Amino acid sequence: MHARPHLLRHWLLLVSMLLLSSACSREAPLHQHTFLGFGTLIEVSLYGTDATTAQRAMAAVEAEFELMHSVWHPWQPGSLGRVNTLLATGEWFSSPSSVLPLLVRARQLSQQSNHLFNPAIGKLVRLWGFDQGERADGPPPPADEIRRLVAAMPRMSDLDIEGIRLRSRNPAVTLDLGAFAKGYGIDLAIDLLREMGIDNAIVNAGGDLRAIGRHGERPWRIGIRNPHKPGVVAAVELGADESIFTSGDYERNFTHAGRRYHHIIDPRTGYPASASASVTVIHTDAATADAAATALFVAGPERWHETARAMGIKYVLLIDTEGNAYMNPAMQQRIHLEQPPQNIFISEPL
Ligand code: FAD
Ligand code: MG
Repeated sequence: MHARPHLLRHWLLLVSMLLLSSACSREAPLHQHTFLGFGTLIEVSLYGTDATTAQRAMAAVEAEFELMHSVWHPWQPGSLGRVNTLLATGEWFSSPSSVLPLLVRARQLSQQSNHLFNPAIGKLVRLWGFDQGERADGPPPPADEIRRLVAAMPRMSDLDIEGIRLRSRNPAVTLDLGAFAKGYGIDLAIDLLREMGIDNAIVNAGGDLRAIGRHGERPWRIGIRNPHKPGVVAAVELGADESIFTSGDYERNFTHAGRRYHHIIDPRTGYPASASASVTVIHTDAATADAAATALFVAGPERWHETARAMGIKYVLLIDTEGNAYMNPAMQQRIHLEQPPQNIFISEPL
């Protein structure tokens, strides 16, 4: 794994979230286990489970993440790499079962987002150099190469799926599941825990998480990081089965000639989406929350509301590059702002 520079940041975030929740951990028998996966720290917290079951469950979840890490890895050789090679041929092929359900779900969410969440833009992500752990500072890619890839319009709807057979009608499609696989993987981990009879758990991958069941007497409190300075911009209490995901311009970026370029690409322009600094989404399942956080980041202050509606999202906080906060009334009701934003804009209900 090549994620060292990210780890400290993720670790600090995990720590801040634990501090917010320390009141709960005193009340419930808590078992926690942390390991590396998907280029970040993954933390599993289990409540009210005996030590033996907890150990078995945490080992099973770690093994599951190891498997997912190897089959869905964006740039190391594996199932996804083979799928990308075969998609480029335009011919039908049998898709590995480890990848197909992910693609079906990603295609559906991509269409709902009007292709703002677009995992078919792997070639653009690679051109920008964000297909690797860290991108060294240097000039952005040539404008004509960006234009060429945007004009080829790779989309998830270019994929034909029949049973287990798969093909792409557009040779420009290269899959990059970085905006989605973490959420999908967290859902699978939660399913696994439930199958093992565990009802109270949190699976947290670098600050993006899903919580199920109870967390002691008080609700589980999560800190939302301020995209502009160290610290927590807001705290929110999660319900019995909810996921919270944030996409931010601070996660992966490089600088050239005094300008910062980050990793969330607007598929319509081929350049990093310019208006948002971070978007936080709360939703039941983690896969939808992950895809939506990326889509709404691209949609920006102008279009986040219609995109959230189209994706069935009920709670959104968007912070723009000027430090203004945008949210829907239901989000406003449950969020505790810790650092007041520049301005707060409350939208129509979602
Ligand atoms: P998100 O907003 O959720 O996603 C942004 C990412 O999605 C971008 O980095 C890009 O890859 C892609 N993308 C950009 N624009 C769009 C768009 N408009 N629509 C759809 N997708 C878009 N990182 C490491 O540093 N080291 C590792 O070893 C490592 N291993 C990984 C293994 C797996 C299996 C996966 C899935 C990812 C791995 N990563 C690794 C990447 C890392 O986990 C995250 O995917 C990455 O940091 C971005 O996630 P995010 O939640 O910050 O942002
Ligand atoms: Mg995402």
